[in-house]
Amino acid sequence: MTTHEIKPDHFRVKPGHRVMLADWSTDTTDGFEGTKDDRAALLASLNEQLSDLQQMLYAESKHKVLVVLQGMDTSGKDGTIKHVFHTINPLGVRVANFKRPNDVELAHDYLWRVHEQAPRNGRITIFNRSHYEDVLVVRVNELVPTKIWQRRFEHIRGFEQMLADEGTTIIKVFLHISKDEQRARLQERLDNPAKHWKFEHGDVTERAHWDTYTEAYEQAISETSTDDAPWFIIPGDHKWYRNLVVSQLLVDKLTSLNMRYPEPIDGIEDIRITD
Ligand code: AMP
Ligand code: MG
Repeated sequence: MTTHEIKPDHFRVKPGHRVMLADWSTDTTDGFEGTKDDRAALLASLNEQLSDLQQMLYAESKHKVLVVLQGMDTSGKDGTIKHVFHTINPLGVRVANFKRPNDVELAHDYLWRVHEQAPRNGRITIFNRSHYEDVLVVRVNELVPTKIWQRRFEHIRGFEQMLADEGTTIIKVFLHISKDEQRARLQERLDNPAKHWKFEHGDVTERAHWDTYTEAYEQAISETSTDDAPWFIIPGDHKWYRNLVVSQLLVDKLTSLNMRYPEPIDGIEDIRITD
């Protein structure tokens, strides 16, 4: 079957499903047969739709949208933000980057710095990494004992359910790349002087933990994909396809909110600006 359609729901993790990442393709394009020009045209169209939907979200100021972006190093979190959100009015979208916690953050519970960044009505917030690092990097590098990170899945489910109950639409995206693709992208960072700034020694040490990260992701995604905060495992080896799926996913979710512009104030048709 040849198609120009993108079906993000094919990549949704159903609640209770035990994820084995090896079973999820990193390089499928799910039958998409469009030419390069078709891809570019579709992305431009999705960018425009997203921009219109975001404007309505902002105007209506009723819903909150949270996009959680996770993935191994080089999986394309920054690139996705650039290509999916670049046409959106900056007034209504914010990126929250979660790096290594500072001393003040470490002196609080791990959700403290996260909750503060959650979106308000009318806004989209993108978490570039997130509270999931507290069951990923923290687990892999043994920054806290096992019994502490293990109980966090329950906290995270509760936290996200609370956000959803209070009006937040939550979309969680795992950008799924192969280990080979990571090698190529890390090498590109080393070979291309314009990309040197992106390379850290940590990237090599973390790559050595690929299998442990895989297990950590499998458990985190399996434990926390719910009806109100579903995970999507997006094939990430082809950047163009990744951009299309994430864009379509956002367009679909925002469309399903059935938003409308607020009613104009009474008597607006009689008002004339006369001087
Ligand atoms: P980058 O995404 O390349 O800018 O790197 C951010 C770094 O911060 C990554 O190595 C993350 O693993 C790390 N990081 C993010 N959140 C946490 C956390 N809660 N605890 C420890 N390290 C974290
Ligand atoms: Mg990095």
